[in-house]
Amino acid sequence: MIFLKTEDEIELLRESNQLVGKTLAELARYISPGVTTIQLDQIAESFIRDHGAEPTFKGFPNQNGKPFPASICTSINEVVVHGIPDNQTLIEGDVVSIDCGVRLNGFCGDSAYTFAVGEISPEKQQLLDITKKALYNGINAARVGNRIGDIGHAVQSLCEENGYGVLREFTGHGIGKEMHEDPFVPNFGKKGTREQLLVGLCIAIEPMVTLGNRTIKLLADDWTVATKDGKPAAHFEHTIAITHSGPTILSSFEELEKIIREKA
Ligand code: MG
Ligand code: MG
Repeated sequence: MIFLKTEDEIELLRESNQLVGKTLAELARYISPGVTTIQLDQIAESFIRDHGAEPTFKGFPNQNGKPFPASICTSINEVVVHGIPDNQTLIEGDVVSIDCGVRLNGFCGDSAYTFAVGEISPEKQQLLDITKKALYNGINAARVGNRIGDIGHAVQSLCEENGYGVLREFTGHGIGKEMHEDPFVPNFGKKGTREQLLVGLCIAIEPMVTLGNRTIKLLADDWTVATKDGKPAAHFEHTIAITHSGPTILSSFEELEKIIREKA
C-alpha cells in the first residue's frame, strides 16, 4: 500500500532527512586514512541521538530476522551495501559508502554517499561520478506523469552506457513513518512501466553500481553484500518528494561536500 504524504508530512520528512545530511557531513570530517568504521559508527550514533533522533538501522532485521548491529552501514571498496562497522581501518585509495537512516518526530530519513579516502584512482573516481549522476538523472525522472519505470530507466541507462553493473537484488523504496514503504524503486526498468508517480509520493532513490560485473555475494555475517569479482562499487541515495513543481530533494549532500572541499 502506497501512502501519499501531505505537505506537513513532507516537511517532517525533510527535517529527518536534513539530520541525515548533517550526520553524513559530521562523518565527512573524520573519513581519512587510519580511522576505523566502528569509530565512524560511534560518531554517527552519538550525533543522531544528540539531535533527538534514533538510528533506524540499529536492530533493523534482515530477511532471516538477524538485527543489524550498528547505526550506519559502512561498505568499503568491493562491498556494495550493508557493510557492518568493525575494526577495519580505512586506507588511502579506498572508497567507503556510508548509508545512514534516522527516525525523528515519527518520520524517517535515509541517504547514502560514497566517499573517497584520500586520493583514489581515476577509475574509482569515475565510478563515483557516474553513480551520483545516475542518482540525479533518476531524481529528474521522478515527475508527475511519469512512472517508477522511468526512474529505473534513467539510472540504468547512464550506468550501463558507461560499462557499469546495476544491482537487481536491492532497490530504492517508499519512505515515511517506516523506512521501507511501498513502492519498490528499482534502479533498472522500462520507460512508462510500473506505478504512476503522484503528488505526495516520497521515495528513496539509491543506485548501487559496480565497476565490474553486477553479480554479488552475501558474506557469512548474513548482511554484507559484496561484488563477486572483487571490483569496487558505489552507492548514492537521496530521499525525495514528488510535488506539483517537480521532484524535491529532502536529504542533502551540500554540507558534506562543503567539508570534502575544505579538506582538499
Ligand atoms: Mg539508505
Ligand atoms: Mg534506502
